[in-house]
Amino acid sequence: MFARPILRSARLHPRPSLTKPFSTTQFPRAAKRPSTNPFKSNPSPGAESPYKKHIGLKVGMILSMIYMGYQLLTIDPSKEGHIKPKTFENQFFAPFEVEKVEDVSPTTRLFRLIPTEGTVVKEEQLQAIGHVFVKNPTMQIERPYTPTSWSPSHIDLLIKAYPDGEMSRYIHRQQPGEMIQVKGVYETWKVDREVEEVVCVVGGTGVAAAKQLVEEVWQKAPKEGKEEAVDRWTPKITVVHAARDPSELIFKSEFTKLATSNPSFNYHPITDAPSSATTRITADTLRKLFPTDTGDKEKEKKRIVLVCGSDGFVEYVAGQKGVGEGELGQGVFGGLLREIGWRGKVWKL
Ligand SMILES: Cc1cc2nc3c(=O)[nH]c(=O)nc-3n(C[C@H](O)[C@H](O)[C@H](O)COP(=O)(O)OP(=O)(O)OC[C@H]3O[C@@H](n4cnc5c(N)ncnc54)[C@H](O)[C@@H]3O)c2cc1C
Repeated sequence: MFARPILRSARLHPRPSLTKPFSTTQFPRAAKRPSTNPFKSNPSPGAESPYKKHIGLKVGMILSMIYMGYQLLTIDPSKEGHIKPKTFENQFFAPFEVEKVEDVSPTTRLFRLIPTEGTVVKEEQLQAIGHVFVKNPTMQIERPYTPTSWSPSHIDLLIKAYPDGEMSRYIHRQQPGEMIQVKGVYETWKVDREVEEVVCVVGGTGVAAAKQLVEEVWQKAPKEGKEEAVDRWTPKITVVHAARDPSELIFKSEFTKLATSNPSFNYHPITDAPSSATTRITADTLRKLFPTDTGDKEKEKKRIVLVCGSDGFVEYVAGQKGVGEGELGQGVFGGLLREIGWRGKVWKL
């Protein structure tokens, strides 16, 4: 359709032929002047013209370009070795395939993602507690999510769908076999080996962080090497999970089972009264679950409360979050923990 006008304009404005050698009649002064370049000999009569050499060079270049173009066009991306390996990292998004989708509550789904061929996830990247980012390519937005379980061969994401949530609705539309762009890992809380007791006070899908921590401490096989096995961090963990409705107590059966078999693990599910608009967690609930005055000040310093949930939940339990990463994002100490006189450490996830 557009070929004719282009050809016509090409004829109106002819381009000099690139394969045509320079003619000495075009550059008479250059032809007459002897070369001042000591490395260049002046052509003597009967010697091979340098322009002929250039023709050979140009023909060679054109042939190699045709060959390279052919190679590019005939590459089969499905053939092994042709997909450029991507290391899973926090600079660029890498494609993961949705392997499984499971409804775990009326509003929440668990997505198992597996790295696509060529995406490399390394064990040492998966440090608890961490989160990843997921991108919605149609809207160019990204949001953080805390994997509930991960390994070099899978990432599980627990996603609650909000009626007007751009990202959560996008992820909920994904079916097995579809691709999701993920980047990470970003640090949410760095394991503090001095800590002997961790209390996770989590609301809704904030339970994802507690699940990741439990997996890190008890469900991951110890890494190779004696030193690692001896050095394994074995804190006592208590999970206090608040949810609006009993159906939103995700991982309840798994945590209940673990609590009966593992003396270092405690689990306290808490739900609101059906008509209640606020959470049932109160200062009294927390006081009963973890007494603040144990009589052992040194031991108290080795306890930490990790608070994870919506901004409103975090503020209610431990005070408003700040703006920024790390310590900056911790904001002020307040809420129920201040009310009960908590003297241990606190980290808002
Ligand atoms: C470190 C970190 C880890 C996270 N991990 C998870 C996780 O594992 N699973 C998970 O589901 N979410 C997690 N989130 C929240 C997640 O990043 C998104 O904010 C959430 O999925 C909503 O995004 P959206 O684009 O769907 O909603 P948006 O389009 O951003 O918001 C639309 C509306 O949805 C509602 N809404 C959004 N977020 C919340 C909220 N947290 N509480 C109450 N109402 C809300 C509000 O009405 C809001 O106006 C995490 C957040 C952080 C900071």
